[in-house]
Amino acid sequence: MKFQLTEEQQRLRDEVRQYAQDEIRPQAIELDQAEEHPTEILNELSDRGYTGITIPETYGGMGEGMVELALIIEELAAALMPVAGAVALHLGVAEAIQRFGTDEQRDTYLPSMASYDTVGVLGMSEQNAGSNKLEMETTAKREGDEWVLNGHKQWLTNFQGGDYVLTYAKTGPESERPHNITAFLVSTDRFDVEKVWDTLGSQTVKSPRGVLRDVRVPDRQRVGEVGEAYVQRAKLQTGVNVPARGVGLARAALDDTVAYTSQREQFDHPIGDFQGVKWKVGEMAQRVDTARLLTLRAADRADRGYDTTREFSMAKVSATQAAVDNANEAMQLHGGIGYTTETHVERYLRDARLLTIAGGPNEGHKDTVAESVYADHPRWDSNYDRDI
Ligand SMILES: Cc1cc2nc3c(=O)[nH]c(=O)nc-3n(C[C@H](O)[C@H](O)[C@H](O)COP(=O)(O)OP(=O)(O)OC[C@H]3O[C@@H](n4cnc5c(N)ncnc54)[C@H](O)[C@@H]3O)c2cc1C
Repeated sequence: MKFQLTEEQQRLRDEVRQYAQDEIRPQAIELDQAEEHPTEILNELSDRGYTGITIPETYGGMGEGMVELALIIEELAAALMPVAGAVALHLGVAEAIQRFGTDEQRDTYLPSMASYDTVGVLGMSEQNAGSNKLEMETTAKREGDEWVLNGHKQWLTNFQGGDYVLTYAKTGPESERPHNITAFLVSTDRFDVEKVWDTLGSQTVKSPRGVLRDVRVPDRQRVGEVGEAYVQRAKLQTGVNVPARGVGLARAALDDTVAYTSQREQFDHPIGDFQGVKWKVGEMAQRVDTARLLTLRAADRADRGYDTTREFSMAKVSATQAAVDNANEAMQLHGGIGYTTETHVERYLRDARLLTIAGGPNEGHKDTVAESVYADHPRWDSNYDRDI
C-alpha cells in the first residue's frame, strides 16, 4: 500500500502551511492575549476557498473530501487552533445541510456558506446534555407550519460573527429515544446571550451560552426528518477535524521544541544534546506520527465510504492526548520562558486542553473503541475491513 498523499493534496497542504506559518502564526500570541476574534484571518481563508473546502463545487465550494479537510485543519491548528475550530464547526453545519437538508436549503445556504458570508454554528450541548446529548431539554413544538423552540444551548462556538445555529431540540417523547430529536436552522439573532464564558484557552473564538424563548421557526428551516437528527448526526464525517486539530497542536509543540532545544545552551551544550531531552523529543515526534496516521486513516475511510466509528474514536483519543502531552513536554523543555507569553507553548497547552473534552470527552470515545472491538470479535470473517 502507498502511504503517500497525492500531488494535489501535497500542494494544498503546502499552500495552507505557508499561509498559516507566514500570516497567522506571527499574530497568534497577540490575538490570543487580546482575546480578539480572528475576523480578518477567516475572511482571508474564505478568499482562498478554504471555508468551503468540503462543500460540493456545484454550490461554490472546493468539493474536497475528509483527507483534505484533515490536512488543512492540521495546518491551521498548528498556527492558531481556534481558527481551525471555527472553520471546522462551520463546515460541520454545511455537511448536515448538504446530507440531510432539502434542495431548497442546499441552494439557499451552501453557496453563501462556501464564501463564508453565512457562518454556521453548532447548537447541541446543554447544561445537562454534555456527553449524553439525549438528555437535552430544549424543545420544539409544532404549531401549524411553524415550530416553537424553548430552551438553551450551553456552548455556541462561532456565535460571534455567526449567522445560523444548527439547533437540536426534542420533538418527541422519551419513549422514542433516540428518534425524538430534530434539527433546525435558527438565526443567531433569535438567541439571547446569557453568558460569555471566561475560558482557559481558545480565547479568540468564544462559545457563549444562548437561550431560546418562544422562538418561532418555519418548518422550511428544519434540517432532516422529524425525530431523526440525532441518528443522522452520527453519519457526519467532518468530526475528523477534532483529531486533526490535535495533530496540528502536537506538531507545533514538537517543531518549537526542536528549534528551541537546538539553540538554547546550558552546560556548554545545546540542551538538545542531552539524552534525556532527545528521548523526549523522539517521543513527541512519535506521538505526532501516530496521531496523524490514525487521523488520516479515519479520514480516508470516510472518503471511501467505510464505517469510521472505531477509527474516528481512536484518532480522537490519540491525537487530542498527543496535543496535551506534547504541549506539556514543550513547556518543560522551554523552561521558564515557556511559562510566559513570549513563546507559543503556553497557548498550545491551554488550547490543547479543550480537545480531550470537546467533541465528546475521550472517555466516551474509549468506550466506543472497546465496544467496536468486542462487537467485531472474532476478526477473521471475510467481510472484515478493519485491518487498516
Ligand atoms: C470551549 C468549548 C466549546 C464548545 N463548543 C461547542 C459547540 O460549538 N457546540 C456544542 O454543541 N457543544 C460545544 N461544546 C460542548 C462540548 O462538546 C462538551 O463540553 C462535551 O461534549 C462534554 O460535555 P460536558 O462538558 O457537559 O461534560 P460532562 O458530560 O459533564 O462530562 C464531564 C467529564 O466526565 C467524564 N465522563 C463523562 N462521561 C463519561 C463516561 N461515560 N465514562 C467515563 N467518564 C465520563 C469525562 O471526564 C468528562 O470530561 C464546547 C465545549 C467547550 C468547553
